[in-house]
Amino acid sequence: ATPIEKKPEWIKTRAKMGPQYTQLRDLVKNEGLHTVCQEAGCPNIFECWEDREATFLIGGEQCTRRCDFCQIDTGKPAALDRDEPRRVGESVATMGLRYATVTGVARDDLADGGAWLYAETVRQIHAQVPGCGVELLIPDFNAVPELLAEVFDSAPEVLAHNVETVPRIFKRVRPAFRYERSLDVIRQARAAGLVTKSNLILGLGEERGEVSQALRDLHAAGCELITITQYLRPSRRHHPVERWVKPEEFVELKQEAEQIGFAGVMSGPLVRSSYRAGRLYQQAVAA
Ligand code: SF4
Ligand code: SF4
Repeated sequence: ATPIEKKPEWIKTRAKMGPQYTQLRDLVKNEGLHTVCQEAGCPNIFECWEDREATFLIGGEQCTRRCDFCQIDTGKPAALDRDEPRRVGESVATMGLRYATVTGVARDDLADGGAWLYAETVRQIHAQVPGCGVELLIPDFNAVPELLAEVFDSAPEVLAHNVETVPRIFKRVRPAFRYERSLDVIRQARAAGLVTKSNLILGLGEERGEVSQALRDLHAAGCELITITQYLRPSRRHHPVERWVKPEEFVELKQEAEQIGFAGVMSGPLVRSSYRAGRLYQQAVAA
């Protein structure tokens, strides 16, 4: 990718390769496995893989929705691949993961929005890798209770749905989603007894006070875990970075979120919604 905006100093990571990371890297290469961690060039890969945590994308490479911050292509998806859940389970087993995050594209082309695909992937990982935690990061399934129930019944350790931004600019950033509908997804997940999680991306044009309000809205909706991240522009077609949030502000936001009552918070310039997700889940369990 071509650098567009000049990144501040604190955006850069130091590469520290540990033994677990190098083992996983060789394995993934030799077995021809696919992870979001590698394919998105995630800067946290040394840390997450050292903890044997990784992220997988399901549903194909084309999304039926278009969000302003997202590098996934919008288009007509390929036919549903019913063997994909089994293969993801197999990859998690081969990698010997302790915690797997599964996310995917929106499949509005399918009658069930992909609910079966998401649920089956959780079931496959649990069946093939007993003891591995699964974090399922879902689109909104239009908040249809029957579709969400099908997904929730697969019993992921964490059910994540990201609001990503604040109400005032939500329509521009996520035209096919609705802020209130996303809060409703979290509300329904919590009511189903799941541990819930969401994410806010900063640098999309939101104001500081609006971030505080979104944190309060999420907590009121039953959200227990939160990640707060910096927007990085994937390409020139995407919205420019409106501001680089300073590391101190991320620390402040973490304290604020904890005061509001979140059980676990990850907040920082390089944090991603799946960053050290297993560790964050443990905080929710302990709370
Ligand atoms: Fe990206 Fe998800 Fe939005 Fe699709 S719905 S464009 S995958 S963020
Ligand atoms: Fe993988 Fe997510 Fe960790 Fe990045 S933050 S390395 S995508 S698990």
